[in-house]
Amino acid sequence: MLKIYNTLTRQKDEFKPIDKNIVRMYSCGPTVYNYAHIGNLRTYIFTDLIRRALQITGHKIKGVMNITDVGHLMEDSDDGEDKMAVAAKAQKKTPLEIADYYTKVFFEDLKKLNIQTPEIVAKATDHIDEMIDFVKALLDKGYAYETSDGIYFDVSKFEKYGNLSGKKLDEQVAGARIAVDTEKRSPEDFALWKKAEKGHIMQWESPWGMGYPGWHIECSAMSKKYLGEVFDIHSGGVDHIPIHHENEIAQNEALADKQTVNYWMHAEFMLVDGGKMSKSLGNTYTIKDLEDRGYDALDFRYFCLNAHYRKKLNFTFEGMDMAKTARARLNAALLEHKESSNKTDPKIIKEYEDKFIAAVEDDVNAPLALGILFTAIKEPKSKDIYELALRFDKFLALSFDKIKKEQEDAIPEEIIALANSRAEAKKARDFKKADAIRDEIDAKGYSILDTREGYTIKKKV
Ligand code: AMP
Ligand code: ZN
Repeated sequence: MLKIYNTLTRQKDEFKPIDKNIVRMYSCGPTVYNYAHIGNLRTYIFTDLIRRALQITGHKIKGVMNITDVGHLMEDSDDGEDKMAVAAKAQKKTPLEIADYYTKVFFEDLKKLNIQTPEIVAKATDHIDEMIDFVKALLDKGYAYETSDGIYFDVSKFEKYGNLSGKKLDEQVAGARIAVDTEKRSPEDFALWKKAEKGHIMQWESPWGMGYPGWHIECSAMSKKYLGEVFDIHSGGVDHIPIHHENEIAQNEALADKQTVNYWMHAEFMLVDGGKMSKSLGNTYTIKDLEDRGYDALDFRYFCLNAHYRKKLNFTFEGMDMAKTARARLNAALLEHKESSNKTDPKIIKEYEDKFIAAVEDDVNAPLALGILFTAIKEPKSKDIYELALRFDKFLALSFDKIKKEQEDAIPEEIIALANSRAEAKKARDFKKADAIRDEIDAKGYSILDTREGYTIKKKV
């Protein structure tokens, strides 16, 4: 039985899909004004793990992820310029060019991290009509009002506002900064639609003149379009709980008059060196940064799998080194299992399999699942263990099907050429020359070992 922690109920709930044939799931996607950093990517790995947990427990999925290419302002509230416009200005490009470029890189990163692409990827700018319709409906139902600069959601009309984060409206209002927009009825009211100020770079026609959508409305409009009014799972990072998801709930439920998402799931934040990630600290690392430092993207996936998604994860390069070494060890052990023709008692295999599934079913416990694999590889070498690992890989997604002998790949041409000339020297009984070449190979960090069949070369560790 799959249990998942539900932010809404604050407990692990048994997962019961609305429709047993298909799980409907929505995940907040990237704002494509910059490269995704490792914190963002942790959250997408988390979403991928939910998907894979559902799949290996027998569910089919209809997943939707949005691409935010308009409406996400510099502050998560309604202030500041649009993030897309800021990037466009800085890079002297159009918002469309910015969005296309970073969307492309984003999907390349996902691919490297073995993150599945959801069944539907929806761009905000392709859904302006749906958003306008949503806003119109909220106005008609009396949940929204117009000011001189936009259409706002009236949170006082929505009694459950604050339920997800557990913050009551009174506390929020008391803690909020003074509203800049005095026409707003309450500082917590948020923009559904903004009227375009002069020269605003992205704007569309609407019943309220030229304008652009608020950020929260896009997720409500697109989830409704593709998943229906009521769906199973909504995921995102914990930072989205107090504003973005609270606002999504308000919009959805105001329209539907009922609860629209059954399970809210949130990934905890990634820290770097124990602190916040920020541009000014230069620690918003990307996958490319990690690759440039000699890590494989899957070392980062492994690093993330090692911590439960509901725990903060502190990124350090020492931690990455450990992840890289552990993954290499795991792969080396699996390779030996792969090459063995021995068998393992099916009962033992079944026990590992059951434990693994139990870990996955216990709120997607990836570190526990990984630990079970680590115990399994200590079994005497057997092809069955490798095949077991391949089944586990449907969840872990560490590409166990692609592992191969490191030596085969890693020996540079130059060393192979030297080894060949050493073999020729030996054949010609020029042992002095052969020894000199061995020394040269040695000095370059490789050792050569003569065998009955010829020789093998190994990188020295
Ligand atoms: P954004 O592109 O800013 O909308 O963020 C994309 C996703 O990354 C959202 O689901 C955020 O919750 C998540 N996110 C942002 N920063 C971090 C972080 N430091 N650690 C984990 N997730 C994050
Ligand atoms: Zn969203």
